[in-house]
Amino acid sequence: MTLPYSRRTRPARRRDTGPTTETRILVRERSAGRCEGCGRALHAAGTWTADHSFHHRRPRGMGGTTDPAANTPANLLLLCGTGTTGCHGWVESNRGKATALGWLVPRGTDPADVPVYDIHATRDIHDHVWLTTDGYYTPTPPTGGHR
Ligand SMILES: [Zn+2]
Repeated sequence: MTLPYSRRTRPARRRDTGPTTETRILVRERSAGRCEGCGRALHAAGTWTADHSFHHRRPRGMGGTTDPAANTPANLLLLCGTGTTGCHGWVESNRGKATALGWLVPRGTDPADVPVYDIHATRDIHDHVWLTTDGYYTPTPPTGGHR
């Protein structure tokens, strides 16, 4: 099913807590416009071509969203589907498995420090990678002790 631009409509209040346009572009480019779970093409020729979600690995806090890590590329996965369908739906209904894969990260943990397993774009080479805050995959863990 193809959903055009209109699916991006969302309540205005979400603008305050979601990733910026720049961050969304970084994540989209990291993934080559494909679902980072199954590899399904989601974006082509400058437009979204399928249901997709910017999944927060570490859930956003209730209310206060002042944590700058929440909306960096390291905390986001581009997944097909919605909260109930596709790979995003799988995460929401298999939270234990998703946590084991690093697709979900516990509160209090920096998502940049937690490797992600079975990313479509890298799984042929690396079974897990780290997501950098500037929008890349890396096979080596971040050097600790930052911040
Ligand atoms: Zn998918």
